[in-house]
Amino acid sequence: MSLFAIQFLLGLLYANAGEWLMHKYILHGLGGNPRSFWAYHLHEHHAVCTQYAMVDPGYKTPDLATWNTQSKELKELVVLLGIITLHLPLLFMMPGLASTLYPYQMP
Ligand SMILES: [Zn+2]
Repeated sequence: MSLFAIQFLLGLLYANAGEWLMHKYILHGLGGNPRSFWAYHLHEHHAVCTQYAMVDPGYKTPDLATWNTQSKELKELVVLLGIITLHLPLLFMMPGLASTLYPYQMP
């Protein structure tokens, strides 16, 4: 198995584990507090998904005209850009791993 393939598989594991950990401990853990920055996920996103067959229409067509600091789409975009920026060195050091991570961040 090539080094690129090994990195690719590690990237899949890393991306899945990272998403699961962030979802469990940040979005649901910290987001359980209604005053938290992350509260939108549990209290809004999941409520909307329940109404629309597990799809949040806000993510399909973000309303750019009303984006503000309370917009869940804007919050998630900022977090995703942070994750991408944080992992930029991997693009040069471990391109196989990075080639898995970056498409994984796409909605
Ligand atoms: Zn959730």
